[in-house]
Amino acid sequence: MQVRYRYRIYPSPGQRQALARVFGCTRVVYNDCLRLRDACHAAGQKISDTEVQRRVITLAKCTPERAWLGEVASVALVQACRDARRAYKNWFDSLNGRRKGPAIRHPKPRRKHRRQSIRLTRNGFALHGQRLYVAKVGDIRVEWSRALPSVPSSVTVIKEADGRYYASFVVERQATPLPSCDREIGVDLGLASLAVTSDGEVIPNPRFLRKAQRRLKKAQRVLSRRQKGSANRVKARHRVAVLHRKVRETRLDHAHKTALRLVRDNQAVYAEDLAVRGLMRTRLARSVSDAGWSQLVGCIEEKAAQYGRTFARIGRFEPTSQVCSACGVKDGPKPLSVREWACAACGTVHDRDVNAARNILAAGRADKSNACRAGVRPHLAAAGAEAGTHRSAA
Ligand SMILES: [Zn+2]
Repeated sequence: MQVRYRYRIYPSPGQRQALARVFGCTRVVYNDCLRLRDACHAAGQKISDTEVQRRVITLAKCTPERAWLGEVASVALVQACRDARRAYKNWFDSLNGRRKGPAIRHPKPRRKHRRQSIRLTRNGFALHGQRLYVAKVGDIRVEWSRALPSVPSSVTVIKEADGRYYASFVVERQATPLPSCDREIGVDLGLASLAVTSDGEVIPNPRFLRKAQRRLKKAQRVLSRRQKGSANRVKARHRVAVLHRKVRETRLDHAHKTALRLVRDNQAVYAEDLAVRGLMRTRLARSVSDAGWSQLVGCIEEKAAQYGRTFARIGRFEPTSQVCSACGVKDGPKPLSVREWACAACGTVHDRDVNAARNILAAGRADKSNACRAGVRPHLAAAGAEAGTHRSAA
């Protein structure tokens, strides 16, 4: 299976300059692509992908305003074109109802002060001994924190908003199945805690997250007060970026550890398929994004594939908090403030989240036995269902 391996890299001052040039060029090509496609869309014209590429790269290089595009490796520019096409297509398909899931917004232009990245395929990079060779940039020093499992097929060179550089390789990795066990678990993604399992275990959010978030909020306030174009604004922006990284790293590290434990201890893990992006727009926004659910679920999915375990998402329309997990009676919706309730039919007292996790486990088991009866092996059915959405954590 394909996974990403990420390493910190240390380009020299000259290489940083060369990379800045590539980032700038790909950003311009990406934004030109969007502008051209928007113009054609508005005029009701169809434009082919090759024509877009010809106009924003090949022809643009011949004009005085874009002549500098010729100074960087064209592989990176072509990738930027493809990225723009993908983003545009996703939005367009979503608009026309050809794409399932939450509505996709119109792709935004890339901006200078955000995270910058370039994607390079085989002809744009190579490994020279311990160093990473990037076309027209040179041999960059890499901090090899772990060995690559195979020869990478592509690399993304990233400059985060806080100024750190990374190389993220796409590699093929063999699955290493663990001996099977007979435990299965349902996971309910919570609001107060990160998750609750059907065993009744409460998985808290990482301890330092709150503190880091408070600091981040303060730094963002400072940034908003700084005058545009001032040196102090640059400093404030850097501080915000650093705190963002700390929050992200804390959360990801915690998600990896939690996911590994759940996958190692259970043959199958079921989680609720929440349209997190849909929820984001409601008042729950902050706590939802805080919890970092999609990160956790992504980690579980990746590790389940690695260790030969089953992972499945349960349709989000199952009323998992309305049904009694002991007797199956559905006694209607309850406001989020109700943490504990007694079933009117059988009298069992439920913790809201544990009850939901138990229902998720039951729904997962039911799906699995249905798949068995239909003659499909469960892990294949799960893999098929997830094939379109599988993405490993970068
Ligand atoms: Zn009951």
